[in-house]
Amino acid sequence: MFNAPQISQIGDPVLRRKAAEVDPRDIGSAEIQLLIEAMIATMRAAGVGLAAPQIGTSLQVIVMEDAPEFSAKIPQAERLEKEREPFDLKVLINPVVREIGTETRDFFEGCLSIKGYTAMVRRQREVAVSYLDQNGAPQSWQPRGWAARIAQHEYDHLQGVLFTDRMFARSFMSDEEYRKRYAGKPIGAVKEALGLM
Ligand code: ZN
Repeated sequence: MFNAPQISQIGDPVLRRKAAEVDPRDIGSAEIQLLIEAMIATMRAAGVGLAAPQIGTSLQVIVMEDAPEFSAKIPQAERLEKEREPFDLKVLINPVVREIGTETRDFFEGCLSIKGYTAMVRRQREVAVSYLDQNGAPQSWQPRGWAARIAQHEYDHLQGVLFTDRMFARSFMSDEEYRKRYAGKPIGAVKEALGLM
């Protein structure tokens, strides 16, 4: 059985540090490979993305995955609005995220390190990510929609930035309240209810 590491919670200074780059020569080491394995297992138990500082390791490593069986549970209208397309596991080492175009999207997001809360955050609709994969090979990826949102959220973790730094403050609420009142509603209606129009 995999023993999931504790997920660092907001207030822990590890979440506020800029994570160190991984020396590319170390990517094949047991230390980094075990870190990646632990991150993948932790993410699969809990969500669609994880950054190393969230399990207490201040290194520039991200894992992301949106499995088809995960997004299949989301109503189609919501999936379309959020441009939520499944994608395979990505391991991003020393990533650099660059904005593509000027279009942005406002949606609610959560964070495993801010357990029980959610808020609306403005993100770029599309970004370009360059990174090293788990074998140390240089890669690039241009996600759009929900995948781009996850990439920006996780990349922020490596800079010591949390969604609460970027959120529309008036939209901050408990997951419970969100589920009860707003889940599945079009984002325009939610903004109106919260006085964000
Ligand atoms: Zn997070």
